[in-house]
Amino acid sequence: MSVQRKVVIIGAGAVGMTFAFTLQQSGLCRELILIDQDQKRLAGEVDDLNHGLFFVPPQEIRMGSYEDCAGADVIVITAGAKQAPGETRLDLVKKNAGIMRSICEQIVRHTREAVLLVVSNPVDVLTWVALKTSGLPKNRVLGSGTVLDSARFRYMLSRRCGVDPRNVHAYVLGEHGDSEVAVWSMIHMAGIPLTNLCRYCPNNMEEDRERITKAVRESAYHIIEAKGATYYAVSLAMQRIVEAIIRDEKSILTVSSFMEGPYGIHEVCLSLPTIVGAGGAEKVIDPPLDINEEEALRHSAEVLKQYIRETC
Ligand code: NAD
Repeated sequence: MSVQRKVVIIGAGAVGMTFAFTLQQSGLCRELILIDQDQKRLAGEVDDLNHGLFFVPPQEIRMGSYEDCAGADVIVITAGAKQAPGETRLDLVKKNAGIMRSICEQIVRHTREAVLLVVSNPVDVLTWVALKTSGLPKNRVLGSGTVLDSARFRYMLSRRCGVDPRNVHAYVLGEHGDSEVAVWSMIHMAGIPLTNLCRYCPNNMEEDRERITKAVRESAYHIIEAKGATYYAVSLAMQRIVEAIIRDEKSILTVSSFMEGPYGIHEVCLSLPTIVGAGGAEKVIDPPLDINEEEALRHSAEVLKQYIRETC
């Protein structure tokens, strides 16, 4: 890990730029490079960020090209095409898989040392594409996965239970998408499993279970319908992952990475609790789940494999 702490963001749209702004305020890196095919807009974005340098820790922020990937600690990919009129969802995935392939081919011409963090959707499929195209070690290619979904789950539980979200321990696993698995059996607060906590609560959580699970799963649809895109919470999730890598934190986060056998799942990228440090997705953890959750996780893996077969 370089002392300079260099991060490259490829794709400076709503998500890429909100993350750049989050990163700028944190002072985590000394060098931040932005790459996008829309050079005119990018120049404006970079000027806008640079005019704030008086207010944040010293750092260099500039437009760049793939050559600037050399020496990067983390390369974050948020580039993607939007759905064109008449285009099917599968066509869009094929197009984004093509974009991911071309980006990764260009990255590895200049570095094989960085950790790649994929955020573009469908994130699990594109993480798989990035891993296969780049030929990097599997730990060094990860996706933002369900870090955001887990944060949404914690937020909704925290509001339901009247507890700070930072004291709610809960995970969403599997696909970042429709087949994701909200793991109710593992929820705890202050070390007390939710089932025990509910004994002290006059309101019956069972009635809210389905509502909360659905609200977490459908969050992005509602936000996109209301304002066209989601970018604030995902940027904080990206910041959390990137700081865990840059500071070699060994934090446990539900990033997406390549599976080699947990719960019988192979040859697909999805999210499980994972130790994240300087090496990227350093170790996948497979906690005991209840039988229905395990089944749902294997189903999620099958959904993703089918997606890969149809689009990649
Ligand atoms: P956006 O359209 O605002 O930005 C995409 C950017 O990618 C644009 O600036 C575009 O010019 C650029 N781009 C496209 N092709 C490129 C290429 N070949 N090389 C370089 N740049 C290229 O979209 P957004 O709202 O910023 O979303 C970006 C991606 O992040 C989408 O795929 C979105 O679905 C995804 N996303 C993921 C999560 C998550 O939790 N994983 C959450 C929100 C959004």
